[in-house]
Amino acid sequence: AAQEGFDPEDIEGELAAAGHGPLPRLAVVGRPNVGKSTLVNRIIGRREAVVQDKPGVTRDRVTYEAEWAGRRFKVVDTGGWEQDVLGLDASVAAQAEFAIEAADAVVFVVDATVGATDTDEAVVKLLRRAGKPVVLCANKVDGPSAEADAAMLWSLGLGEPHPVSALHGRGTGDMLDAVLEALPEAPAQTFGATVGGPRRIALIGRPNVGKSSLLNKVAGEERVVVNELAGTTRDPVDELIELGGVTWKFVDTAGIRRRVHLQEGADYYASLRTAAAVEKAEVAVILIDASESISVQDQRIITMAVDAGRAMVVAFNKWDTLDEERRYYLEREIETELAQIQWAPRVNVSAMTGRHMEKLVPAIETALAGWETRIPTGRLNAFLGEIVASHPHPIRGGKQPRILFGTQAGTRPPRFVLFASGFLEAGYRRFIERRLREEFGFEGTPIHISVRVRE
Ligand code: GDP
Ligand code: GDP
Repeated sequence: AAQEGFDPEDIEGELAAAGHGPLPRLAVVGRPNVGKSTLVNRIIGRREAVVQDKPGVTRDRVTYEAEWAGRRFKVVDTGGWEQDVLGLDASVAAQAEFAIEAADAVVFVVDATVGATDTDEAVVKLLRRAGKPVVLCANKVDGPSAEADAAMLWSLGLGEPHPVSALHGRGTGDMLDAVLEALPEAPAQTFGATVGGPRRIALIGRPNVGKSSLLNKVAGEERVVVNELAGTTRDPVDELIELGGVTWKFVDTAGIRRRVHLQEGADYYASLRTAAAVEKAEVAVILIDASESISVQDQRIITMAVDAGRAMVVAFNKWDTLDEERRYYLEREIETELAQIQWAPRVNVSAMTGRHMEKLVPAIETALAGWETRIPTGRLNAFLGEIVASHPHPIRGGKQPRILFGTQAGTRPPRFVLFASGFLEAGYRRFIERRLREEFGFEGTPIHISVRVRE
């Protein structure tokens, strides 16, 4: 442990400084045009990330990482998804519902220049019932003269309205201080990080890939009622299904059931549902229709699961319909379109014929094992030492950054912290990740690597 500049005695402190472990989640909700996107950008400190989206354009990402006063958290962005399709109240209610399910605290944004509307009041009721901590953001308070508008929002009964100008940054610091007070140190117990009970699977994929068919097949009976009437299923339903002698919990299957009455323009709900299911699950089974080209929508769903840090299995469905030509092109597409998740176990199934259903459980078990893998610190550092010796970082500006020490800060998914003597380039980090996977497996799981630079 003679590494320069690194204090192995204080590994706990080093890790705390690096902010490791699963991050708590903050959701930003509110009516369209109150300034949610502007605020999210402010919080994550990236101007270009969200704002430029046109209405109706579905975003790729749902969660962003943010840091304030040295604490890291996730920001769950609920805005921007085809808000008009279902009518204003329904879409805002869906956001709130999602926030309730998936977030540890909520920022509720109100346009102070407009005041509280009926829609705002309705959301307040939903949020209150849920009992999650809420920080009230009175937005568009661009100057002192508008402070009085903010004070009017005491009437919502959510406590102090924080006057903010998301556009100019005014008041956001005070509001974020309140957010940190509201946010727990770690995410709620009911989500991904929890141990115990049946393992939780989210079966996700775009409409018509065969989710309900697959669920029916694995459940061995017509569990999922296809022609259910609109709105009859209110609560998310988790189904316990026995597979391979083990009971699994398929989370949020109500999202699958509901799809029927949401045919056109259902993307908004579908995105929220998918995100909520992923948050609740340990492993995501991503269903892709093998008979069609891999789409942007498929990619978006994959990104959600990767961002959420879940174990992952990719199941190509409708294999019964594939001819040789399609199989050829599918393989090419997988190489180019799914390069980011080469590590995910793959199964080629048919929910219709039952083909390869028995391969699903072993794939899920493999992914969960990868997700929970822990590499002892000694072994990790022996491995890092070899890399540093055989493939040193390129010299930059006369200096050569070196990895001094590494440790696995967490599992589910595996998180590594590398302490280095200088900035490690993205290419070098990718190289390290590739070598880690070659050496230790990590099949079916994203892995996080962060680097702390010791001056
Ligand atoms: P969202 O639909 O809730 O995500 O709202 P946006 O972030 O897209 O903002 C809607 C409009 O309000 C945009 O034109 C923003 O520039 C504007 N806006 C957002 N925050 C503020 C603010 O603090 N002050 C003022 N004056 N305008 C704002
Ligand atoms: P969901 O929207 O993802 O739940 O998809 P569904 O389960 O409703 O399936 C959409 C359509 O694809 C239905 O017509 C199914 O019968 C069909 N389908 C589902 N799985 C398969 C499969 O493995 N092979 C074939 N040929 N059709 C399938």
